[in-house]
Amino acid sequence: MVERILANLKQSNVNTDNTFLQAVSEVLSSLEPIVRSDPRYERYAILERLVTPDRVIQFKVQWVDDQSRVHINNGYRIQFNNSLGPYKGGLRFHPSVDTGILKFLAFEQIFKNSLTGLPIGGAKGGSDFDPKGKSDFEIMKFCRAFMRELYQYIGARVDVPAGDIGVGAREIGYLYGEYKRITRNYDGVLSGKPYEFGGSLMRPQATGYGVVYFAAEMLSQELQETLEGKTCCVSGAGNVALHTIEKLQQMGALVVTCSDSEGTIYDPRGIDLCVVRELKGNGARASLEGYATRVPGSVYTAKADYPAGGHAAWHYPCFAAFPCATQNELSRTDAAKLIENGCVAVVEGANMPTEPDAIELLQREGVLFSPGKASNAGGVAVSEFEMSQNASMEKWDYDKVDRKLQELMAQIYKRVSLTAKEYGCERNFVDGANIAAFKRVAEAMILEGV
Ligand code: GLU
Repeated sequence: MVERILANLKQSNVNTDNTFLQAVSEVLSSLEPIVRSDPRYERYAILERLVTPDRVIQFKVQWVDDQSRVHINNGYRIQFNNSLGPYKGGLRFHPSVDTGILKFLAFEQIFKNSLTGLPIGGAKGGSDFDPKGKSDFEIMKFCRAFMRELYQYIGARVDVPAGDIGVGAREIGYLYGEYKRITRNYDGVLSGKPYEFGGSLMRPQATGYGVVYFAAEMLSQELQETLEGKTCCVSGAGNVALHTIEKLQQMGALVVTCSDSEGTIYDPRGIDLCVVRELKGNGARASLEGYATRVPGSVYTAKADYPAGGHAAWHYPCFAAFPCATQNELSRTDAAKLIENGCVAVVEGANMPTEPDAIELLQREGVLFSPGKASNAGGVAVSEFEMSQNASMEKWDYDKVDRKLQELMAQIYKRVSLTAKEYGCERNFVDGANIAAFKRVAEAMILEGV
């Protein structure tokens, strides 16, 4: 059955980016045993319904730059599944954005959101707008134009977008301002808002901190290990990567790498976050190359000089690796190098950063591997905490959010590892995550009827 569904999907998605098929095929292959064991899934066509988005919305975004030139971009919102709660998922502004990439991200989001145990469905959106090199006013004008179309499809109980690559608190602030001007509604229609008007404490840190809480729990339960004094490699230099590095350092780890789309920094004395923030913070998008000129002893490798078929960040010895930049950034070659160098765990901070054959190799060699839908779910979980605070007009303090986030990440780990054990694939956290997430969504879909 799984093969038939994949073949149909391939036929109907010939023109889209293949990350969607990659994500679906990973999930469906985990589900074979459970689907065979319960005839209701076939009777209610759960798999076919699950791989088909409820709605793919595309709209035109027209805006004027600082030189009075008119630009047109594509805007999207993919509302994939709302069986567990309002559609929920980020907005990505990046030139690579199209319906294929957003379908993959929205599909993953259904499972990630299910794993949190919270009442949120799966969605994703964004634009092929490139924020690189744009002035603050241009970003504002673009965000306002984007919301002039998007507002009609979203709502605090309908669909609650948040940030993703290229969309942080600044962009969410501009989007929210425009939503409020159009609708006069001061409600929690977006999460990741600035604290001043309804944002939750710790939302900016949540994804990265959650990744490290998950890693610490997994290492302690599986290997009776901690992160203290361990060398770690991280990729990325965006919100998720920076907060992953920050929490790893707080836990006593030595983080030796970070990267951007043009190159990788290796700093054997430990990444200096102040320098990275100066280069990348507050919408600044300077190249990481500047790090090497400022920090003696660090090495910059430009993308053109990466190892063949690989990424420089994964070619340094480390105890654990944290891919936190983007999809498909850790290849089989990289996985082989990590194994050779004694890495014991790969914990995904980005969405689907590890290629399928790399995952297979890591698992075969006994490296603990955690899929992003489990280990990076802290971000969307704190988004839901923000929705909760907005609905009750409350403000939670930092310690409360942090405590709830830590508990939630430990619960996700437990859910995933117990499910893996229950289905005879102990320590396979990919199967554990997919099965546990699927069961909750499938049950809801059956109960609400076709
Ligand atoms: N974009 C984030 C993710 O991949 C956050 C989504 C949200 O907070 O709604 O999970």
